Parts: sequence; structure tokens; C-alpha cells
Amino acid sequence: MVKIMKTQQEYLDLDKQLLWHPYTSMSHPSPHFLVEKAAQCEITLSNGKTLVDGMSSWWSVIHGYNHPTINAAIQEQLSQFSHVMFGGLTHKPAIELAEKLIAMTPRDLQRVFFSDSGSVSVEVALKMAIQYWNTQGKPNKQFFVTPKSGYHGDTFAAMSVCDPENGMHNLFTGALTRQHFVSPPPTGIHDPVKREYLEEIRHTFQTHHQHIAGFIIEPVVQNAGGMRFYNPAYLDHIRTLCDEFDILLIFDEIATGFGRTGKPFATDHTNICPDIMCVGKALTGGYMTLAATLTNDKVALGISQEGGVFMHGPTFMGNPLACAAANASLSLLNQYDIVEHISQLETWMKEALSPCEQLKQVKEVRCLGAIGVVELNNSVSLHKIQPKFVELGVWIRPFGKLIYLMPPYIITQKQINKLAEAIYKVASEEAI
Ligand SMILES: *Cc1c(COP(=O)(O)O)cnc(C)c1O
Repeated sequence: MVKIMKTQQEYLDLDKQLLWHPYTSMSHPSPHFLVEKAAQCEITLSNGKTLVDGMSSWWSVIHGYNHPTINAAIQEQLSQFSHVMFGGLTHKPAIELAEKLIAMTPRDLQRVFFSDSGSVSVEVALKMAIQYWNTQGKPNKQFFVTPKSGYHGDTFAAMSVCDPENGMHNLFTGALTRQHFVSPPPTGIHDPVKREYLEEIRHTFQTHHQHIAGFIIEPVVQNAGGMRFYNPAYLDHIRTLCDEFDILLIFDEIATGFGRTGKPFATDHTNICPDIMCVGKALTGGYMTLAATLTNDKVALGISQEGGVFMHGPTFMGNPLACAAANASLSLLNQYDIVEHISQLETWMKEALSPCEQLKQVKEVRCLGAIGVVELNNSVSLHKIQPKFVELGVWIRPFGKLIYLMPPYIITQKQINKLAEAIYKVASEEAI
């Protein structure tokens, strides 16, 4: 059979005609670029252009692309079996991964539920909280408190706890569960804790606690909802308030986990432990889709008392290939001193991005761990700005007023400089 090769343009035309991309219009899609291959910190397009990656493919590819160790781990698992159902069967990759996750996350988290994606792990977390209170004789505790400016995923329950304005709430009013929102934590990672903020949470808890199952928050950094950094001490106080009002504390570490904020988990900036924690994104080193919801014995055994079972079980639960990739990724992560390595990246990004502070278009430059943010005064147009970055040989995908970097941890100083220079140039051409 003769295989007829399509041209690059034919592929791109088909893409435009057939495929949805994230948050895009089917009639006026933003431009998309055809990828041929990727290795280390570089993505090569079909037109031959090579881009330095500043995004880690939505914050997941922490060790870079095409890593020999992760490749080998997947291949080895592939030669055994790629999937078996997790109902009634189990396997070493999942067991070993659970062991690793429990060892590296805060002490109280001792039980693991695997699912397919971050959003689903959030659904699982919310269901765990509701089921827990049900077995504790408090079946009315079915709702959640969450700060505005949060992002927890795109499925329905996850959407219900996303920022009500920037999220998609207005489109789905009526279809979403109405949760209780408090203000976002005041920004400034080193700014002193504001008592009024804690009072606001206390007031909400006091008024509604009989109906509240949990408080869900992204620890230390609110990511997709605005790249907002806040003082971790808020979380210590929130823990106390949750305990006072019988509310479970849920940390969504899907973006912040696995070193991104300069510690293994953002929770490690605090002295406390959540009752439930979600991880995803970087879990498999960005190789495959996998997420996990971890919880403590109190919740896990509480749900299970008097013959109770947890009511969730995805078809591809604990997929062995994904678990093998995750095991390899976590072994790689263990090979370096996260605190030292990520603080080096932070220093490089601070240096490289600091010239942007001089631009009239720029409101603020801030860095934390392997996150570098240039906040502009005005929103950018992806249609306009994305091709400019590609032209400059970098892969950076801004949203709203935010141009940011979340590069793979293997990035070099030279590559960071190239990314930062591109940001400076592109930002300087934006409207003031
Ligand atoms: C990306 C993200 C999610 C959703 O994860 P998906 O894998 O895209 O479903 C949830 N919470 C946070 C904090 C995220 O950054």
C-alpha cells in the first residue's frame, strides 16, 4: 500500500477543520503549530523551527522531553502489560507509586486514590469529603468554601469551586452547585497575615458550617486564576479554623506539586497537613495523564466504617504505563536537591526578567521557585502574541495580563535568558 504523505499545510488545515483545541473557537481558532519532535528543553516544529520551552507543556514536563530514564521505564512496562483493570487486580507500578507518594508528601497523608486527570482528582477529593461527613452522621455537609481566583479544573464539580468571575460560571449558572466564596488570600508571599482575611473566613464558616464539607485551596500559589503568590502562614490559620468548625481542608497541589514552588510540595512551606491533597500535572513528568488524591486515615477509615465503600472507580484507574512513568519521574526528582536546584532557577529567572520591570507595559514582575511572572497592565491577544514568540524561537503561552514562565527543571541559564529576552521584546510592543 502506498502511503501518501500529507504536507504540513494539509495537516494544519485538517486540524483547523476537525479539532477542538483548549478554549478555542471552531470558526476562529487561534494559530496552532505542528510539532515534529521534542527533546530536553526544546520543541521542534515541522517547519524546522526549534523553540525553547518555557511552559513545560502546562507545567508537567519537569525533566524535559524524551527523557531516556522515563522512556525506558515505559518501554519496560509496555513489554509486560500496558493495562489491566484495577477492580480485583493490582500491580507493582501502582503499589510502588503509592509508596513513593506517601513517603514524599506530608506525614498524615497515607492513602492514595489514582485517577486520570487533575480535574477528576478534584472531583474525587470533593466526593471523599462529602462521603466522610455522611458516615459521621452529618449528611448535610455537602458544600464547599473556596477563595475566589482559584482554579481546580473544568469538570462540573471542579468548575463550581473555580473563580466565579474569571471561571466559566456565568455560562453555567444553574447547572453548577452553588458553593461559598471568600476573597482570595492577599498577595505578597512575605507580607504579614491580615487578620481581616481570617475573620472573613471565620464568618463564612460560622454561618454555614452545618452545610460545609470542606475548604479547597491551591496552597501558596493560585495558578491559572492569576499566578497569585500569598503568605503560607494563611494556611496554618485556615487549618485551625477548619478544625474548629469540622471542615475538611483540601489542598489542590496539581500545579504546585513536585518542586515547582521551591519545596517538594507547596504544603512544605507550612507547618500543617491537609486532610485531602490532589496531585497531577507533573506526576508522570508530563508523559501521560495521571492524577492522585491522597488522604489521611481519618477520612479514609471514616468513609469505610460500617461497610462503607468509596464510590468512584475510573476504567483506567492506576494505569500501569502511567504509573511506570510516574515512578521514573519521581526517582529522577529524588536525585537532586529540590530546594537548591529550584532556588538556582528562581535566581536566574529573577535576574533575567528584572529588565521587564522598567517597561511601561509591565505592572509587576514576581518569581517563586520555578515560576516567573510578568504581569502587564492590559490583556494580551493570543492571536497576535503567540506567533511573535514562535518567531523569536520560544514557546510561551500567556493568558490575560500574564506572561509567565514555568520551564522544565533542566533548563539552562542561557535558555532562561532567551525566554526572558523574548518576553521583554514582545511586552515592549504591547499597548501601554
Ligand atoms: C491544571 C489544574 C487542574 C486540572 O487538571 P487537569 O489535568 O487539566 O484536569 C486542577 N487544579 C489545578 C490547580 C490545576 O493547575
